[in-house]
Amino acid sequence: MTTDPAALRLTVGYVLLSSLWIFFSHEVPPALGFSVKLQEYLHLLTALLFILLTGTLLYLILYRHTKNHHQSQFLLANNEERLRLALDATRDGLWDWDIARRQVFFSDSYAALLGLTPKQLGNTREAWASRLHPDDRWLATTALDEDLQDGYYENVYRMRHADGSYRWVHSRGRLIRDAHGRPQRLIGIASDISRQRAIEDSLRQAAAVFDATQEGVLVTDARQRIIHANPAFCRITGYSLEEVLGQNPSRLKSGRHDTTFYQNLWNTLQTHGSWSGEIWNRRKSGEIYPQWQSIRVIRDDKDNITHYVAVFSDISALKRSQRELNYLAHHDALTGLPNRLLFTERITHALARSRSEQLRGAVLLIDLDHFKHINESLGHNVGDLLLKSVGERLQQCLPDGGTLARLGGDEYGLLYEHCNDAGQAAELAQRLLRSLAPPFRLDDHELYIAASIGISLFPDDTECVEQILRNADSALFKAKSSGREGYAFYVQALTDYARQRVELASSLRHALDNQELRVYYQPLHDLRSNRLVGMEALIRWLHPQRGLIPPGEFIPIAEDSGLISAIDTWVLDQACRQMKRWSGQADAPSFVAVNISSRLFGRGELEQKVAQVLEQTGLRADQLELEVTESAVMEDPATAQNLLTRLRALGVRLAIDDFGTGYSSLARLKRLPVNKLKLDQSFVRGLPDSREDAAIARAVIALGHSLDLMVLAEGIETAEQAGFLRELGCDFGQGYYFGRPLPAPEEQTGSTCGQPPEPEQNSVRS
Ligand code: C2E
Ligand code: MG
Ligand code: MG
Repeated sequence: MTTDPAALRLTVGYVLLSSLWIFFSHEVPPALGFSVKLQEYLHLLTALLFILLTGTLLYLILYRHTKNHHQSQFLLANNEERLRLALDATRDGLWDWDIARRQVFFSDSYAALLGLTPKQLGNTREAWASRLHPDDRWLATTALDEDLQDGYYENVYRMRHADGSYRWVHSRGRLIRDAHGRPQRLIGIASDISRQRAIEDSLRQAAAVFDATQEGVLVTDARQRIIHANPAFCRITGYSLEEVLGQNPSRLKSGRHDTTFYQNLWNTLQTHGSWSGEIWNRRKSGEIYPQWQSIRVIRDDKDNITHYVAVFSDISALKRSQRELNYLAHHDALTGLPNRLLFTERITHALARSRSEQLRGAVLLIDLDHFKHINESLGHNVGDLLLKSVGERLQQCLPDGGTLARLGGDEYGLLYEHCNDAGQAAELAQRLLRSLAPPFRLDDHELYIAASIGISLFPDDTECVEQILRNADSALFKAKSSGREGYAFYVQALTDYARQRVELASSLRHALDNQELRVYYQPLHDLRSNRLVGMEALIRWLHPQRGLIPPGEFIPIAEDSGLISAIDTWVLDQACRQMKRWSGQADAPSFVAVNISSRLFGRGELEQKVAQVLEQTGLRADQLELEVTESAVMEDPATAQNLLTRLRALGVRLAIDDFGTGYSSLARLKRLPVNKLKLDQSFVRGLPDSREDAAIARAVIALGHSLDLMVLAEGIETAEQAGFLRELGCDFGQGYYFGRPLPAPEEQTGSTCGQPPEPEQNSVRS
């Protein structure tokens, strides 16, 4: 027991005071000589006074003690209530472990954490430990023992709730020691942190997803400054987090979308709160790539925008595989050529174009003859190799913009857009067949293979894709049944025509070398004086079997086959030589006119050739007139104007042939550096009776004169026509009336090739 100094002081004071009181009340009255009676009376009085005084003192002490006791009781109760309320408010539970007595006090709120009453929970450490989650038991109890050493205790563990679930409990406590430093009790509080723990768990999971997801995630604040991005973002864009933090996502823009695109995106975001779609962005490396992006607006509880979150995936690989799939779906695996599907699509487009642009085209079906034998005798490997090689050879003959497809087995399809007529299609078929003629060397085998070709023209034959293919197929059947290794058109007449044309084309190749071409000359007269002014050189082909072929029949073939350049150069050379021979003779023409094909326009060599011929023949430039047709000029006016200007610079004369048939633009015509318009014979034929022809002739003459151009009328066959045109003021005339085209006099005598002259009545100099 410990001594209380205040109590000791009070007790010692009381003993001293009462001892003195007793001493003086016994000793003082006798010493003062009081009587015994008085002494007894005083003695009684002092005893009563002592009792009164000490009684009063006792009362005061007891009163004060009781008051203090009540006061501290009240404070204690108050504190307890406050503590209870505080614990209630925090929903924390109180525990108090009396170490010496091995008992634990659990407050009501502690037991309530686990859905129990304190009684159900028990009051031992063992009872508490039995409710711990098996995984946490060892750690929780060990920590409790270890932490006993240093004054404070804190731990998190799971405890079984009455409903069987486990609750996360956060427990904190303090060790209280006795006067000798021995652990006496451990007291603390426990909180249920299951909710907080669940939030933390889901945040941890979200963070893991954020970090681990393959999609790029970008978070910006309301002012669109990047505040967070995940590793996938960095991997896809190539930027590190530090490089983009605080930046505006617009730095990722590819420049591929216009401002309207971004405006629409923002409008959708503002109105719907989210946007998703395909967008092209730029990586740090500068590479542009497609991504599928979803952007979401995040708002606070007052509906203010706080963040934007963008999630995107790089879809370049997807696009690539889509392209690959698309390629596989549209191409033949063996040859790499388009397959039937793509071929049909291309024909559909070509048909649509042919309708809108008035173009023509052809579809050719090419089927190998007797391919089956190769497959059967040499095996499919060799067969496959052959199919590949055939595809390659056919591909080499493909005209510009054409499509070659493998339609299956040994059948190929060829779409020839801009195929103007059957002749061109037939020539292509010939080229394809010729390309297969040389042997194929495959796997030590030398193989020969031929093919049959069926041709269908559009839009002539039909305007429906399926019908075009069916027509080409029946044409193919025709080609096969007429002896194979050939081609056939869907329409028989075309087959005949094309065959003739192809034959003509192949013999035209030799016509120049075989000296079968001739130049005839037709006089051009001054209408007023009736005098001869010039000669027009007109080509003729003296075919060994067919006799004289007019230019209208073979010039288009020469133009398509590329022979025209050689032919026109040859005529130019011949005409200039002839003109040179004429010049100096009496009544000689003052110039020779030579026709130039439009196919020579695009080539730079024409003016060199003209200059060269003039130089070689010694002819003056003004003795040569070049005629270009109106339609040729208007086909490509810019090129024509360019070329004509350069030709004019050489000093030669220029005339526009067949004027009135080519839809001239007057604006263009005004700028052309030409000297003469040749009114087409179709407007002369009806003169003088046809009012329309007369009106056109009058208008062309007036137009020509107003542009300072001479006008020549073609095809004048009668004196009336000549007179009528003279009346209209036409300058020159050409036609049977003045003279038919004839060979030059030297040639008429057969000096060049010994052929008889064309049976035309008039001589060259009428
Ligand atoms: P073009 O240049 O307009 O030639 C006039 C054509 O009208 C010639 O036909 C001529 O024989 C014919 N002709 C002349 N007077 C009369 C007539 O009174 N009545 C009728 N009905 N016809 C007449 P051709 O020789 O058959 O030549 C046809 C076209 O062939 C020429 O028309 C020219 O565009 C072209 N051509 C002729 N030779 C050449 C040449 O060497 N090179 C080129 N590129 N084209 C040529
Ligand atoms: Mg002409
Ligand atoms: Mg003409």
